[in-house]
Amino acid sequence: MGGLVVVVGSANADLVVPVDRRPGPGETVLGGDTRVLPGGKGANTAVAAARLGAPVRFVGAVGSDQFGDLVLASLTGAGVDVTGVRRAERPTGVAYIAVTPDGENSIIVSPGANADVRPEDVRLDGAAALVASLEVPVPVVEHAVLAAERAGVRAVVNLSPVAILSERVLAVLDPLVVNEHEAAGLGNLLALGVRSAVVTRGALGADVVTAEGTTTVPAPKVEVVDTTGAGDAFTGALAVALANGDQLVDAVRSAVKVAALSVTLPGAQPSYPTQERMNRSAN
Ligand code: ADP
Repeated sequence: MGGLVVVVGSANADLVVPVDRRPGPGETVLGGDTRVLPGGKGANTAVAAARLGAPVRFVGAVGSDQFGDLVLASLTGAGVDVTGVRRAERPTGVAYIAVTPDGENSIIVSPGANADVRPEDVRLDGAAALVASLEVPVPVVEHAVLAAERAGVRAVVNLSPVAILSERVLAVLDPLVVNEHEAAGLGNLLALGVRSAVVTRGALGADVVTAEGTTTVPAPKVEVVDTTGAGDAFTGALAVALANGDQLVDAVRSAVKVAALSVTLPGAQPSYPTQERMNRSAN
């Protein structure tokens, strides 16, 4: 068993409805049947890491409702420790996702309980790596990163959605993870003061950016079925490899393979590979 990964982030119910087209203002359109799926960047990342066999603790918040039960069941089903999850006095976060025939998503996120995660919820005892994303309040992420620094725990932040972190916090990140679109708005990533950065580039793989230069890790060619949650699979797998002591480029190599396999199956969490599936795909 590898080192403990602590994930700080969001947990949502994804309500996915197929529509022929998006409704305009004041308009009603009829859609197909609704699918209710566990999601949220934090929960996705935690499930991705746990599928690979790592011990994982999730820090987040859900409501005392059925959607909260759904996301917790998915986390515990993957073996994630949810003892630190707060049951907030607010509804579980929900993403309302309308999918048009061209595969394009229009999404409304209601953060609900995710807005109620608190700094004191973060427990890093026994952790080898912290991974945080930004669908929970910025002060929680900043507190977690500084606590990781004090405890000598490797800190990874997936800056999604993009938010402003203090220089003091940025200086700890090793790496900062963003996708190409997020990177485009941030300019020179090392100029932010981070120790390292990783830019995911979809089918092209990922770039590892350090003071020594940029290394591109190509993605394997796969048959794409659904890229939902690919970035979260990537971040989860990256944290597992770093928690096991891998060098950054090796960790990114492993994350690129895990994320590539995840796009070959539908959905986010259901598509995340186990270590056994990874081993089979390598042969
Ligand atoms: P996000 O889901 O955050 O937008 P990306 O689209 O960059 O992030 O995807 C994250 C990772 O998922 C990539 O670095 C790559 O490893 C994998 N991935 C995504 N799309 C593909 C694809 N079409 N083929 C192979 N791997 C992919």
